[in-house]
Amino acid sequence: MKRNTYTCPVCGYDKLEEPPYDEFGCPTYVICPCCGFEFGFDDMSEGSPFSEYRQQWIDKGFPFFNSKKKPLDWNERVMRRQAENIKEKSSNSE
Ligand SMILES: [Zn+2]
Repeated sequence: MKRNTYTCPVCGYDKLEEPPYDEFGCPTYVICPCCGFEFGFDDMSEGSPFSEYRQQWIDKGFPFFNSKKKPLDWNERVMRRQAENIKEKSSNSE
Protein backbone atom coordinates (compact mmCIF):
# COMPACT_ATOMS: atom_id res chain seq x y z
CA MET A 1 0.00 0.00 0.00
CA LYS A 2 1.25 3.42 -0.90
CA ARG A 3 1.56 5.82 1.98
CA ASN A 4 0.18 9.29 1.68
CA THR A 5 2.74 12.00 1.26
CA TYR A 6 2.33 15.71 1.78
CA THR A 7 3.77 18.80 0.21
CA CYS A 8 5.82 21.29 2.19
CA PRO A 9 4.26 24.76 1.77
CA VAL A 10 7.68 26.34 2.21
CA CYS A 11 9.91 24.60 -0.31
CA GLY A 12 7.48 22.41 -2.25
CA TYR A 13 9.07 19.12 -1.20
CA ASP A 14 6.29 16.61 -1.88
CA LYS A 15 7.38 13.59 0.13
CA LEU A 16 6.60 14.67 3.66
CA GLU A 17 5.54 11.57 5.58
CA GLU A 18 3.21 13.55 7.82
CA PRO A 19 1.02 16.55 7.03
CA PRO A 20 2.44 19.88 8.31
CA TYR A 21 -0.93 20.58 9.96
CA ASP A 22 -3.59 18.17 11.11
CA GLU A 23 -7.28 18.33 10.18
CA PHE A 24 -7.86 20.93 12.89
CA GLY A 25 -5.14 23.19 11.57
CA CYS A 26 -2.81 22.40 14.44
CA PRO A 27 0.87 22.12 13.59
CA THR A 28 2.29 18.61 13.79
CA TYR A 29 5.87 19.70 14.53
CA VAL A 30 7.05 17.73 11.57
CA ILE A 31 10.37 18.95 10.21
CA CYS A 32 10.69 19.15 6.47
CA PRO A 33 13.72 17.06 5.49
CA CYS A 34 14.27 19.33 2.53
CA CYS A 35 14.27 22.91 3.86
CA GLY A 36 14.35 22.13 7.60
CA PHE A 37 11.22 24.11 8.39
CA GLU A 38 9.56 22.96 11.61
CA PHE A 39 5.79 23.41 11.52
CA GLY A 40 4.53 24.81 14.79
CA PHE A 41 7.91 26.29 15.60
CA ASP A 42 9.38 28.21 12.69
CA ASP A 43 5.96 29.49 11.61
CA MET A 44 5.25 31.12 14.95
CA SER A 45 7.53 34.04 14.18
CA GLU A 46 6.19 37.31 12.81
CA GLY A 47 5.63 38.32 9.22
CA SER A 48 5.11 35.84 6.43
CA PRO A 49 7.36 33.04 7.55
CA PHE A 50 6.77 30.64 4.65
CA SER A 51 7.89 33.05 1.99
CA GLU A 52 10.65 34.47 4.19
CA TYR A 53 11.99 31.08 5.11
CA ARG A 54 11.74 29.99 1.49
CA GLN A 55 13.70 33.01 0.33
CA GLN A 56 16.44 32.34 2.87
CA TRP A 57 16.60 28.73 1.76
CA ILE A 58 16.83 29.81 -1.89
CA ASP A 59 19.52 32.36 -1.04
CA LYS A 60 21.58 29.64 0.64
CA GLY A 61 21.44 27.57 -2.54
CA PHE A 62 18.71 25.05 -1.68
CA PRO A 63 20.57 23.10 1.02
CA PHE A 64 18.95 19.74 1.73
CA PHE A 65 18.35 19.71 5.47
CA ASN A 66 18.34 15.97 6.16
CA SER A 67 21.23 14.50 4.21
CA LYS A 68 19.99 10.97 4.90
CA LYS A 69 16.80 11.68 2.96
CA LYS A 70 18.42 13.64 0.20
CA PRO A 71 17.14 12.23 -3.11
CA LEU A 72 19.67 10.73 -5.47
CA ASP A 73 18.45 13.00 -8.22
CA TRP A 74 18.86 16.13 -6.11
CA ASN A 75 20.27 19.04 -7.99
CA GLU A 76 19.92 22.76 -7.92
CA ARG A 77 17.76 22.89 -11.03
CA VAL A 78 15.19 20.47 -9.60
CA MET A 79 15.14 22.41 -6.33
CA ARG A 80 14.77 25.71 -8.12
CA ARG A 81 11.81 24.43 -10.12
CA GLN A 82 10.24 22.97 -6.97
CA ALA A 83 10.64 26.30 -5.17
CA GLU A 84 9.22 28.28 -8.10
CA ASN A 85 6.17 26.00 -8.26
CA ILE A 86 5.31 26.36 -4.61
CA LYS A 87 5.97 30.09 -4.74
CA GLU A 88 3.39 30.45 -7.51
CA LYS A 89 0.90 28.24 -5.72
CA SER A 90 1.18 30.12 -2.44
CA SER A 91 0.98 33.56 -4.04
CA ASN A 92 -2.21 32.51 -5.84
CA SER A 93 -3.88 31.42 -2.65
CA GLU A 94 -2.96 34.48 -0.61
ZN1 LIG B 1 10.31 22.21 3.05
